[in-house]
Amino acid sequence: MDGRSPEDSRRASLGALLRRVHLAGAVSRARLAESMGLNRSTIMAMTAELAAAGLVREDLPELTGRAGRPSLLVRPASDRAYVLAFDIAVDRLVAARVALGGAVLERREAPRTRAGADLDTVVRVLAEFGRQLHRGASPGSVCVGVGASYCGMIRPGDGMVRFGPDMGWVDQAFGAELGRRLDLDLPVLVGNEAHLGALAEHQRGAGVGVRNLVYLHGDVGVGGGIIVGGELLGGDGGYGSEVGHMLVNPYDGRPCGCGSRGCLEAEVGERALLDAAGRPADRFGREAVREVVDAADRGEAAAREALRIIGDWLGIGVANVINLFNPGMVIFGGMLREVYLGSATQVRERIAANVLPVSRERAHLRISALGDDSTLVGAAELGFSRLFTDPLGTPVGSR
Ligand SMILES: [Zn+2]
Repeated sequence: MDGRSPEDSRRASLGALLRRVHLAGAVSRARLAESMGLNRSTIMAMTAELAAAGLVREDLPELTGRAGRPSLLVRPASDRAYVLAFDIAVDRLVAARVALGGAVLERREAPRTRAGADLDTVVRVLAEFGRQLHRGASPGSVCVGVGASYCGMIRPGDGMVRFGPDMGWVDQAFGAELGRRLDLDLPVLVGNEAHLGALAEHQRGAGVGVRNLVYLHGDVGVGGGIIVGGELLGGDGGYGSEVGHMLVNPYDGRPCGCGSRGCLEAEVGERALLDAAGRPADRFGREAVREVVDAADRGEAAAREALRIIGDWLGIGVANVINLFNPGMVIFGGMLREVYLGSATQVRERIAANVLPVSRERAHLRISALGDDSTLVGAAELGFSRLFTDPLGTPVGSR
């Protein structure tokens, strides 16, 4: 016995079914029965309950010309339930209303200055976006959750930013403060951007169906999200998967934002690339990184050399994680998409030289399929998580 009551089990099954429909978009009852290991009459009863609650709809599939009665397609009721998702990234603040089923219905975005943004300023901008998005929702739709991605270390449970080196935040009650300002009577669930990016790529992006993967998210620094057996490796306190602070160059490495020296992110982050390419200190951001990669493509010697150096360090980091975790895929997100595309040869050379042959066979290298939205999509999925825990009992934010 696992100690769960029949009612708990029923709630969990309903949540699992709704989550499958949410991720699949449209899925037949027959397919649900097969993938969940339940019989069709059980699935029918469950979809009827979710349909009565306004969370799914059932309809006939397009005619296929095949004989026999077609299995009804179950779809998420994307006009009924939505979440608010926020992405607090290095250069921008993003807010979106995301429908059950995953479609981004509406979004707001503001640029963010690199230094000096305090909690109050950030929360004020986001809360105003959130209120606009909430007011813009169609009548009859309900907000079922709020999720946020933050570029720093987050305490699970209450959305406290323990350490956000990029904004200089230490122990800032970000989740609680955003929740208070939004005033939706819903908790704001906050996750680390690379953790959420990893989950998003696993659920909806390049890593669908890959049970063991490593996601590397680059901006100023490098975040990591490691998925083992389909689950995020959070560690004891939820601060795990910090691949960016893997020590790769302890003796003469560059200083790192964490206070250490020679961390992977110090060697492959944005500033390392721009410095290596001889770009001035007032040039930074995603566009500046793209400019170096484009210049290398056109044959500029300094840019090519910078990508060779950065690619070698990136390869060292990737070789270490492949040896440690034997992933089926390594995904490069954020600005590391561009860096990887510009330095794939060096990364692959390192893997060939330094990864155990038996692990090398399996590790596919990919760029993020969700692009700049991987962290926002992850925040939305986090926002939906409460609904999937108890689909019929989730309190919803009034509109
Ligand atoms: Zn560090």
